[in-house]
Amino acid sequence: MDEIEQAVSLFRGTSVHDDVLTVWNYYKSIENDFTDFEKSFSITCPARCGRCCENFIPDVTYLEALAAGFYVFIIENRDVSFLSDWKSRHTCCPLFDCETKRCSAYRVRPVICRTFSSAASRTKNGLSFRSCHLSTDAHRNAVQIGEKELNTPGIRIPVMGEYGEKIRQLHQMDTRVMLLDKALIEIAGKLELLKRIIFEKDESPQAG
Ligand code: SF4
Ligand code: SF4
Repeated sequence: MDEIEQAVSLFRGTSVHDDVLTVWNYYKSIENDFTDFEKSFSITCPARCGRCCENFIPDVTYLEALAAGFYVFIIENRDVSFLSDWKSRHTCCPLFDCETKRCSAYRVRPVICRTFSSAASRTKNGLSFRSCHLSTDAHRNAVQIGEKELNTPGIRIPVMGEYGEKIRQLHQMDTRVMLLDKALIEIAGKLELLKRIIFEKDESPQAG
């Protein structure tokens, strides 16, 4: 059992437990798809690049916000006030650490952050792959994948829009899409309430 599965097991019997596991399992399957693709075509990001996280705030579904919020507020025990500090100082993504140039919730980053610049796009002529145009790294910019390789049967090519579509379909009850910072504030409130219900009940004195 990994860190996320262990933490979420404390919420067994709630929708948060089921929803976090749903999105976490989906993220693991995306990782499998991308690892093979990136290895096959030598696609890597330069260490501490992070330019795609600067001047960008992802739009997220409920499940994506829940996974990120669960990690930040439950596993890392961060206070929601970090979002007010971020708002007064930064234009980057609220989960981007400007000093280390890393995502502070990388394991639970949303789908757009997983697929941006590492997935092919479907066009009327078939699949096409555009390498990252934000990186200053020459190798990263040089990654080109020919039409023939992308459309060869037997090679599994991750296609960007399909992952976004799937995450939207995974949760039928809440189909909203929100900016990550606003969504995290909502999730913080939900998790705080749930923590009080579960853990304060457990600590209450036994009757009799
Ligand atoms: S290479 Fe592109 S996708 Fe990778 S971290 Fe840099 S800006 Fe982001
Ligand atoms: S969630 Fe992480 S990977 Fe995505 S934009 Fe924010 S800092 Fe970057």
